[in-house]
Amino acid sequence: MSMAEKFKPETLCVQAGWTPKKGEPRVLPIYQSTTFKYETSEQMARLFDLEDSGYFYTRLQNPTNDAVAAKICALEGGVGAMLTSSGQAANFYAVFNICEAGDHLVCSSAIYGGTYNLFDVTMRKFGIDVTFVSPDADEAEISSKFRPNTKALFGETVSNPSLEVLDIEKFARIAHQHGVPLIVDNTFPTPINCRPFEWGADIVVHSTSKYMDGHATCIGGCIVDSGNFDWEAQADKYPGLCTPDASYHGLTYSKTFGKMAYITKATAQLMRDLGSTQSPQNAFLLNLGLETLHLRMPQHCRNAQRIAEYLSDNEQVAWVNYSGLPDNKYYPLAQKYLPHGSCGVVSFGLKGGREESIRFMDALKLIAIVTHVADARTCVLHPASHTHRQMTDEQLLEAGVRPDLIRLSVGIENADDLIQDIEQALKG
Ligand SMILES: *Cc1c(COP(=O)(O)O)cnc(C)c1O
Repeated sequence: MSMAEKFKPETLCVQAGWTPKKGEPRVLPIYQSTTFKYETSEQMARLFDLEDSGYFYTRLQNPTNDAVAAKICALEGGVGAMLTSSGQAANFYAVFNICEAGDHLVCSSAIYGGTYNLFDVTMRKFGIDVTFVSPDADEAEISSKFRPNTKALFGETVSNPSLEVLDIEKFARIAHQHGVPLIVDNTFPTPINCRPFEWGADIVVHSTSKYMDGHATCIGGCIVDSGNFDWEAQADKYPGLCTPDASYHGLTYSKTFGKMAYITKATAQLMRDLGSTQSPQNAFLLNLGLETLHLRMPQHCRNAQRIAEYLSDNEQVAWVNYSGLPDNKYYPLAQKYLPHGSCGVVSFGLKGGREESIRFMDALKLIAIVTHVADARTCVLHPASHTHRQMTDEQLLEAGVRPDLIRLSVGIENADDLIQDIEQALKG
């Protein structure tokens, strides 16, 4: 029985990935080494041919990184995982591992702005086309976006910053009807609040920079493979996985690695060639964050729920978006997929509009204005003045960002103290 089958998430957060043997360090060590030693030339040659597993160069694999990836893999319930230098790199690799020039991707329009740019601008330069579709569209409409060259469907469990909840089962059904995998960015809920594989997703990606690190210390990402997608059954669609790889002496990933084909190719080929490796030092810090993820997520959710309720009852507040509120559009989906809460991010607008939003933010004392979201310290951002400031009000609305929208990332402080700060800033 694997650790993931034997133990519950709390135990996995603390202990999965690193099991020291006699006399070894209790705490996961930082293997601060680019390279690894062998006794014979033959031993090293076998590693280069993927005939043995082992470490030879940190761009491909490092023991600290692998231990942390194994922990995230256990939490998600996958068969293999790989750390990347950022969430952006994770999303790029997850798609580029199965898409090449001439291919096409169907993607939820409710995704992180950085991912939207990656797919809409940069991936097109690689010759990979994308069609965006509302995640709330019905199955027939989403299905109609697929083409013979479509290679994946992509969505976010809870979108950043619009906080739309993905109907993962619906998306998985559509993807599988078209013989392609569903890739889900599970950054905001983390596996503590949702495990997309249990609902049919095939690949999960993370920006570990958010709740997983949890302390805003390290940019990082992760790709997890469920091992469930049958690549061989769609061999024509996925030549990269199902036909010989010339850069590994004609090895075929699906035949040699079975359920591990996708994640092995991502590591052995994409990471080798593109090199967006996470530093072992950052992986060490990420692991410290993961050790308390199961304690922090419920506190983020409790605080966010209280603040969302407080804001809903306040006369100066025009609207509040949080899927834990019973009148929220996504409440039914959140009840199904996120019964313990979604995340700590709440968005809202003030009756005074854009000017009042700015005045309110400047009056906050405990809550800070920062670009980051999803760490221990409560922070705010006004997208219309910051991340999206080049856009007109009309363009903002088109992008689903209201000009008065304040994104509040609720931390793990005491909720009364946070509400007091909000209250004094509203009165100001
Ligand atoms: C932040 C974020 C990313 C990008 O991750 P980085 O670590 O900043 O590169 C991707 N997806 C979501 C949902 C995010 O919130």
